[in-house]
Amino acid sequence: MTTAEDDRAARLNWPGVIEAYRKYLPVPKEAEVVTLREGGTPLYYASRLSKLKGSDVFLKFEGANPTGSFKDRGMTVAMTMAKQSGAKAVVCASTGNTSAASAAYAARAQLRSIVLIPSGYIALGKLAQALIYGAKVVQIKGNFDRALEIVRELGETGLVTVVNSINPYRIEGQKTGAFEIVDALGFAPTHHFIPVGNAGNISAYWKGYNEYFADGRCSTLPKMMGFQAEGAAPIVDGKIVHFPETVATAIRIGNPASWKGALLAASESDGAIGAVSDKEILYAYTYLAREESIFCEPASAASVAGLMKTTVPLGATVVCVLTGHGLKDPDTAITQIEVPAAVEATLEAISKEVGI
Ligand SMILES: *Cc1c(COP(=O)(O)O)cnc(C)c1O
Repeated sequence: MTTAEDDRAARLNWPGVIEAYRKYLPVPKEAEVVTLREGGTPLYYASRLSKLKGSDVFLKFEGANPTGSFKDRGMTVAMTMAKQSGAKAVVCASTGNTSAASAAYAARAQLRSIVLIPSGYIALGKLAQALIYGAKVVQIKGNFDRALEIVRELGETGLVTVVNSINPYRIEGQKTGAFEIVDALGFAPTHHFIPVGNAGNISAYWKGYNEYFADGRCSTLPKMMGFQAEGAAPIVDGKIVHFPETVATAIRIGNPASWKGALLAASESDGAIGAVSDKEILYAYTYLAREESIFCEPASAASVAGLMKTTVPLGATVVCVLTGHGLKDPDTAITQIEVPAAVEATLEAISKEVGI
């Protein structure tokens, strides 16, 4: 039996994903590990969602990572390898969370971090993170897809290391999310729901489940259920979206780098890639806060929005990945609720206001 003390000890001793899963990662023994002790995130049982779906629904809350998103899992490996190779600077294009993670891990590694972000489409918390961790932030007059094109060109000069998910070490680190889920449940879920933007993460999870399967750590594989936002659903539409639009800025991507990886994960696992509307995303987003006490960012809620409109067999074991923390994007939260006006500072006025 695990006690609260055991849990606490495990948490205090959690070494980060490279030390926890070294056997499965391409990090040489002698490398100096760049870590903020990412991973080890909670897998919550979602009691109300479970009742709603007639199955066991778990939420993997990646907002609990050091910079508040799953990007930290990949960044620890990418930054460790960049440092090991003698790189002096790293560069990424970002819808926000990659820049926050890159900036934080580069600071730890004492590397220069350069980030390209689409002007006007970055959630405020993410921009604040990149700046305070000391990255050189360049806002471009173009979207994420354009930023990534330029980053690829910068990478080809050989002067900087690209830490977007086109860097294979990012995917290696991110696959540890699947390991943690199997370790926590004792088996693989039947269904894995996940938001899809640049499609690195769905590719990474599928890789992780397969490696654990091959190693005998689980005897089944989940159906991979990826969800894009309707206004940014190139994989579902089967064509590049030149002007992607969605409230879920982390998945506002029209030409995903790992497009093929997402299709492969869905087809090999007998899963699917679907789309959810902004309205469905925001419904799931508020529902998660009110019913399951988890405040995630809008893009993260795409996984649960996808589950809400999908029929899963009774008794299924479902995991939804909640990719980032709600505090990343306070502006969106505020649009979903009425911010209360000030009332008189008297017992009478306040009693009347709260109805007691
Ligand atoms: C990066 C990100 C995504 C999308 O992941 P991809 O690997 O690009 O598909 C989803 N949600 C959040 C919060 C993210 O930061």
